[in-house]
Amino acid sequence: MPLGTTSGPLFLGSHHAIERIVHKQILACPGDTPIIEAARRMVDTRCSSIIVVEDGNPVGIWTERDALATDFSDPSCFGGAIADVMSSPVKTIEGSASIGEAGMRFQVEGVRHFVVVDASGRPIGVISQSDVILNHGVEHFLVLRNVGSSMSRPLVTVAGDCPLGEAVAQLRAAHADAAVVIGPGDHEPGIITERDVVRLIAQGTASATPVWDVASRPLISVEEGDSLLNARQILDSRQIRHIGVKGEDGRLKGLLSFADILAALQYEYVQRLDEALRERDEALLQSRRDLYLARKVIEATVDAIMIVNPRKQIEFVNPAFTAITGYTADEAIGQSPGLLHSGRHGAEFYAAMWESLDRVGTWQGEVWDRRKNGDVFPVWLTINTISDDDGNVTQFAGVFADITERKKTEEKIKNLAYFDVLTGLPNRRLFTDRLLVAMANAHRHGARLAIMFLDLDLFKRINDSLGHGIGDMVLIESARRLSASVREGDTTARLGGDEFVVLLPEVARIEDVVHLAERIIGKVRQPFVVDDHELYVTTSIGIAVYPEDGTTVEDLIRNADTAMYRAKEVGRNAFQLYAAAMNAGSFERLAMESSLRHALEREELHLAYQVKVDLASGRMSGVEALVRWLHPEMGPISPIEFIPLAENMGLISEIGAWVMETACRQCKSWHELGLPKVRVAVNVSALQFHESDVPAVVRRALAVSGLEPCYLELELTESVLMKRVEEVAGILDDIRALGVRISIDDFGTGYSSLSYLKRIPIDALKIDRSFVRDITGNGEGDEIVSTIINLAHNLKLKAIAEGVETQAQADFLRSKGCDEIQGYLVSRPVSPEDLVSLFDRDLLPADP
Ligand code: C2E
Ligand code: MG
Ligand code: MG
Repeated sequence: MPLGTTSGPLFLGSHHAIERIVHKQILACPGDTPIIEAARRMVDTRCSSIIVVEDGNPVGIWTERDALATDFSDPSCFGGAIADVMSSPVKTIEGSASIGEAGMRFQVEGVRHFVVVDASGRPIGVISQSDVILNHGVEHFLVLRNVGSSMSRPLVTVAGDCPLGEAVAQLRAAHADAAVVIGPGDHEPGIITERDVVRLIAQGTASATPVWDVASRPLISVEEGDSLLNARQILDSRQIRHIGVKGEDGRLKGLLSFADILAALQYEYVQRLDEALRERDEALLQSRRDLYLARKVIEATVDAIMIVNPRKQIEFVNPAFTAITGYTADEAIGQSPGLLHSGRHGAEFYAAMWESLDRVGTWQGEVWDRRKNGDVFPVWLTINTISDDDGNVTQFAGVFADITERKKTEEKIKNLAYFDVLTGLPNRRLFTDRLLVAMANAHRHGARLAIMFLDLDLFKRINDSLGHGIGDMVLIESARRLSASVREGDTTARLGGDEFVVLLPEVARIEDVVHLAERIIGKVRQPFVVDDHELYVTTSIGIAVYPEDGTTVEDLIRNADTAMYRAKEVGRNAFQLYAAAMNAGSFERLAMESSLRHALEREELHLAYQVKVDLASGRMSGVEALVRWLHPEMGPISPIEFIPLAENMGLISEIGAWVMETACRQCKSWHELGLPKVRVAVNVSALQFHESDVPAVVRRALAVSGLEPCYLELELTESVLMKRVEEVAGILDDIRALGVRISIDDFGTGYSSLSYLKRIPIDALKIDRSFVRDITGNGEGDEIVSTIINLAHNLKLKAIAEGVETQAQADFLRSKGCDEIQGYLVSRPVSPEDLVSLFDRDLLPADP
């Protein structure tokens, strides 16, 4: 076995099994092998030992060192059995042992070779101490030490003429493995080593042979200042195991053997072993200290720590956990972490949390938890999974901090600014400021203001199902629609989430607020198109009015909020006034509104006719068409209620056109029946007059009915005349040009000035029934009525009195020269069929 060469495996590290560096080639022989034969085989195979095997098992070993014991003076001993001179028992080591373990055993047992055996004890190779040491990665050390400092033994020299047997005896006596051989004259010295001895045995060399003749020559040398690495390289390259060492003066000082290098390395190696052991002990101590420290930290930290096992049971909690949640370790351990659930997060929230833990091993976020005492509070939670070396999850470590205070601070900072970042609307702070100012103002002027509290219905569903991005877009668009719906002086603000408030600083009539609420509901109800999604959002609105519903900011907002919840309760997409009494009215209106839209097509509208009587003849001079709405559930609804509604809803023109046409057809059909020809009067409201093209409507009604224009009369209220007089006059001219008459209805209640009356083309004034009611026979009321009659006549207009209920009123009117009367005294409005019987009759009670 070549020993002391660098051809062995590279340094592997002490945890590797020695199988990897073992010399698999085994030189073995039976115990009865002659010594000379064993020596020959060692020389031939360049092995430094031979194993003696009996029945396949190693029983001993014979090494170069053992060869030194040979007595060269007795040549017969070369023929002796190897079993008699071998070292026994043989030391073995299992191939699976680590290099580190082998190093320890060489150290402890003081041998230089182990026979390596397999698990069943069969020899598979030999390992030497040098193999082990050289595989401990200590070669670098050779650079640092010089040859001089590593020579350990005294120099053994023998004279060249010394017989071989004597020289071997000297080596043995000096416990040396080599000696310098001094040559004759000034020859360079030679060397004889234990390996040479094996060779000489193998050759059967005679004991008396002068050692000079068998010595290796010349002795190769290095200087004592050279590095051990340098020396070793020479030993390796020359395949030798000893080298001479010269002092600075060039004289030979001693021998350096491979064993010396090993010894130097071994020293280092043992140091290393010690160090490794010490490090291991220290690491152990350190980890014990770390554990202690960790426990102290876990106990002292202000963050709650909770360890949960894969079956989702709490395994450990720290004191901060108890402080924060109120649950002691005993109460918490063994429970599910659901113990802390507040109910504010849905199952999906926790599912996503576990999914993240599963996928990336960690989760972090804000969670609402519930304390033992029931308080719900926010925490910032971090969960990490803990896995064993094989990657199996063994625990989940949750660390959380109570962030109630932090959230409060955040809130404050947010409120420092006046505007909502997302929508750009004023925020709660600015809204509150403006509300305070508006309340002070309203208080000074004894006026009212209103606030609306809006909440988008089921907004959370959009947020949860389509994500916050879409949710944000919906909020932005809702904010835009709200702002567009209100007047300039109003304030729309976002309180947070999907909650908005509107401040109406000047409220003349509650109906205006109700209208705005209806308009907003309608605007929000329009579909939202966001990222290809068509979304339907509705809103519920609560209204609170100052001062009735509260005189502080808090009261007003709270009451508007309460009203909003009622709106949600009544089915969302609705509004509610905080003062419940007001809702009844507005509610009825709402119901009425939605059915009015369909009243025409469902034929719920029809006309009643009330006669007008000519005071001079006592005969019917005309009829007034009065629209009636018979609501299927609410019964008959007065035009005083639904006409303004129709105006607000933009339905008045449609209804007006229908009345016009129906009245003309009816009148025409009476004419066709051969009844006395009378005029039909149709009411046209101010809004209807300004919104629609009345002359066109009239022309059409006349055309489709075939009624002669002179039998149609329009009744307009004074309010028609209050706007754009020139324009109105033009329109009235057009109508009159058709041959249609025009009278001013409810005359006296408006603000028409005499100058107007002169300029506009009309035929009659209808004295409002409130004046007729005030006729007493000798009072102020009488004066007004006679003044109006005179005025009409002065303007060359007819005077008609409406709402005549008593004979006295009729008598008075006749005495003042009034032209016509209309009222319950003569007839209530009746159906067209009933009217027929009133033609051709003396309708006035007998003249007294
Ligand atoms: P108006 O044009 O002044 O019509 C007269 C109203 O006085 C009618 O009420 C009629 O029933 C009522 N009346 C008649 N005689 C008496 C009486 O002796 N005593 C009292 N207290 N009331 C009497 P109605 O039918 O409820 O109509 C109310 C108002 O609704 C009308 O006042 C008119 O301004 C409006 N209106 C009715 N039909 C139409 C229509 O087709 N189009 C428009 N634009 N307005 C209409
Ligand atoms: Mg009328
Ligand atoms: Mg009237």
